[in-house]
Parts: sequence; C-alpha cells; structure tokens
Amino acid sequence: MPSLTMQELRGAVRGPVITRDDPGYDAARKVYNGMIDRHPNAIVGAVDVADVMAAVAYSRENGRILSVRGGSHSVPGFGTNDDGIVIDLSRMKGIRVDAAARTVRAEGGCTWGDLFHATYPFGLTTTGGIISTTGIGGLTLGGGIGHLTRGRGLSVDNLLSADVVTADGRCIVASEKENPDLFWALRGGGGNFGVVTSFEYRLHPVKDVYVGLIFFELAAARQVLEFYRQYIATAPEEMGAFFAYQIAPPLPFIPEKRHGEPFCLMVACWAGPLDKGEQAMQPIRKAGPIAAELVTPMPFPALNAAFDPLLPPGLQHYWKASFASEITDGAIEAHLKHGPKVPAVNSTMHIYPINGAASRVPADATAFAYRDARFATVIAGMWPDPADNAKNVKWVKDYYAALQPHSTAGGYVNFMADDDQGRVKENYKGNYNRLATIKRKYDPDNLFHINQNILPS
Ligand SMILES: Cc1cc2nc3c(=O)[nH]c(=O)nc-3n(C[C@H](O)[C@H](O)[C@H](O)COP(=O)(O)OP(=O)(O)OC[C@H]3O[C@@H](n4cnc5c(N)ncnc54)[C@H](O)[C@@H]3O)c2cc1C
Repeated sequence: MPSLTMQELRGAVRGPVITRDDPGYDAARKVYNGMIDRHPNAIVGAVDVADVMAAVAYSRENGRILSVRGGSHSVPGFGTNDDGIVIDLSRMKGIRVDAAARTVRAEGGCTWGDLFHATYPFGLTTTGGIISTTGIGGLTLGGGIGHLTRGRGLSVDNLLSADVVTADGRCIVASEKENPDLFWALRGGGGNFGVVTSFEYRLHPVKDVYVGLIFFELAAARQVLEFYRQYIATAPEEMGAFFAYQIAPPLPFIPEKRHGEPFCLMVACWAGPLDKGEQAMQPIRKAGPIAAELVTPMPFPALNAAFDPLLPPGLQHYWKASFASEITDGAIEAHLKHGPKVPAVNSTMHIYPINGAASRVPADATAFAYRDARFATVIAGMWPDPADNAKNVKWVKDYYAALQPHSTAGGYVNFMADDDQGRVKENYKGNYNRLATIKRKYDPDNLFHINQNILPS
C-alpha cells in the first residue's frame, strides 16, 4: 500500500497541520518546559478521533518519529521531537458528565482545570493533578497523584475505560471488559500503548474542600517532618496533605518582609464534610511554629488553580523522583540539608502521600507497581532564566542523590527527567515483563517510543 503523503495527510484531517513554513510553527512547536527546543516536521492539531487515526497512519507508514501531546507538561519534553510528527490533542476538549452514574468522559486534550470545572457544578470530582494546566492524558497514563489520592486512589484507580488509537491505526475501547490487557497496561504504563482519545473516570461527591496552606518556620523543619511521617500514616483518608519546601511567593497572607524566604510547609486538602474541616486542620497547625497560613474552605477547582501563577509556561524544568516506604531519619537529614537551599521561587520539593486507598490496590492489578510505597517524592526544579540552569540542575541532582539511599530504586514515571530512561524496569518492578508483552501485542515496532519507553518483548 502506498504511503500517505503530507499533502494527503492535510486533506485527511480537519485540524491544522502546521509545518516549518507556516506562520504558527514556532508557537505550535513549543512545549511547557522552556528548556526543550525541538523542531518537528509537522504538528497535527487533531480535532477528532479520525484526525488522530490519520496522523498515526501517516507516521507509521512513513517511518516517522511520533510524539503525542496532551497538556504539554512532560518535563523531558515527550510531547515533541526533532523531524517527526506531533499529534497535539489540545483542541480535543469535549467533556460529558453523567451525574446519575457519577462518571465523566473527557477527551485527551483536556487539562485538569477543564475537567474539574466541568464536574464542579454537579458536586463531583475525581483524583487529578494539583495544577490546573496539567493534561489529564499524560498524568493519568503514568498513575496520577493528587490531593484526593489517599481517599480515592490514583487517577488510574478511577479510570473506567479509554478510547485508544493503537499503532495499527484502529480505535478500540480498553476497559475491564474490552481489551483488558491494554486497559491494565494503560493504568500506569504511560504513553507506550497508543493515543488515548478519551478517558472515562469514576466521580466522587466532593465539591468544596477545606484547605490549609501552612508555612512553618524553617528552623522547625525536623519537627514538622517527624510530625508529618507519623500523622499521615493514620490520618483520616479525607485528608490529603503533603510536605514541601518552598520560597515564599508574594502572597497577601504572607507578611511582606518574609517574601523570598525559604520555608517548609504543609499543603492540606480536607475533602470530607466541610463543617469538620476546621477541626481536621488542627493537628497540622500544631506541627510547628507557623510563619504564615491560609486556612479556609474553597471550591476544589480554586485549590487546583491556586499555584498556577507560580508556574507559567516556558520556565526551565529539571525534575527527579523516587518512592519511599518510610521517611527514615536519614531521609530527614537529607531534607534538612538540601530543602532549605531551594534556589528559585518556582522550584519545590514535595513529599506526596500515596497510602490509604492507593495502597489497597494490589501491585499487579494495574501497571502502577509501587502500591507498597507510602510516599512519592519529587524534587521539581523550575526557574525562569536559562543562565541559571547549572545551579538549579545541581540542586535537584544533589538533593536526589542524598535521598537515594533512603528511597526505592524506581520512581514515578511522570516526575522523571529524560536521563532516567535507565530506570524504566525499576519503575515497574514486577510488572515490567507483562508490560513488555502487551507492548509487543499492541505496538510491536515501538511507534510510541517518545516516553519512558517499555520495549516490546
Ligand atoms: C507543573 C506540573 C505539575 C504537575 N503536577 C502533577 C501532579 O499533581 N500529579 C501527578 O501525578 N503528576 C504531576 N505532574 C507530572 C505530570 O503527570 C506529567 O508531566 C505528565 O506527563 C503531564 O501530562 P500532559 O498531558 O500535560 O503532558 P504531555 O507533555 O502532553 O504528555 C506527556 C506524555 O504523556 C503521553 N500522553 C499524554 N497524553 C496522551 C494521550 N491522550 N494518549 C497517549 N499518550 C499520551 C505521551 O507519551 C506524552 O508524550 C506535573 C507536571 C508539571 C509540569
């Protein structure tokens, strides 16, 4: 069969096909991480499943490198490439809430801001990312950690089905009933198995949440970390709370003279009955001397958008990640040494709890293997000026190296840099071989390889 030409591809799709000579090319090739500067041959702005099928067929038949882009947040820049094709799903934003069934179906170009906005009026939501501009696609396929993880599981634990365009160009359904092997692999295996054009999630009755953004004096970091590891092990599962290091941004609730100072903090989200929120925050507020705090009820989508101004597109990003079953005394020493050195107001280190509902799922029930881990740690280097790259990358690497003796070998695929490809087997532990077998079935030629890549075997 003759290959589709670029001209035929343009004719076959309804969305724009943007190539090097087009005026919108430079804007279309940009991804969220400003460190990534690649020049794909064409960006296909898919508007529907048919467009995705045509772009997959074109890439396969012409032996093109293929990247898939949803929200564009991939730190290693998996949403683009040099000289290949990008399928940009960002125009595919259809969402349908079924309030009676408590489900939502959302197209692959939606962000978490889009999804939470759509489900909020129904008093429903699900586990998604903590920043509104992150795509549902990449985040879900890697696992999905957010404020609701302890009570409602990972995003993949709430995924009910997916429409997937596979490497052979078919569009198939993946669910417990249809293509269950693919469904298993999608729940943690990243973008390795095809283009998911829509995701169906289970929803939970959560509307407004009680939020605590609590900045503690840096000198109390040991006390706060010791409190956190103990508290979060048995805290009510309606409480999502993570520990962080952060330079104080110029927020109205932080005294002006302290803006720009590093702090340790807790970001707490109580998703239980609102009238119990004040009481639920009390133990956290006693964890150490408070320098500044915002403790208030707010709509869940407002919490989701609260940190967006700190993270505009175009920052430089370099991240490292690991899991831990415990925050050991040695890990606390590492945090005390490196956390306070956080070099930029956009940068941070978060320790997310993944106990509770997420840890009750058996390790082999989905591709996400670290059900025995209790914490997912990310050192997220983010800064505006490329001139500061060396300094910031060094902070991330040094911090990560200090934590490694106290962490698992693998980490969360969505929090990793592109120099972490060597850890892919460790990221999936006992699930890797099964993933490799499913990869061989659905993508034997590894068309979808711009990701934390699972090799077909
Ligand atoms: C500011 C920021 C905040 C974050 N917060 C969180 C968080 O709270 N929780 C968390 O778990 N992670 C978080 N992450 C990590 C995030 O999960 C990953 O960066 C993820 O890849 C982003 O997905 P995306 O669709 O925005 O990215 P993209 O760059 O668009 O996609 C990344 C890769 O995912 C795959 N992919 C994306 N969509 C599809 C699709 N529809 N079908 C097939 N493959 C697809 C492709 O391989 C693609 O290259 C955050 C990242 C950033 C930068």
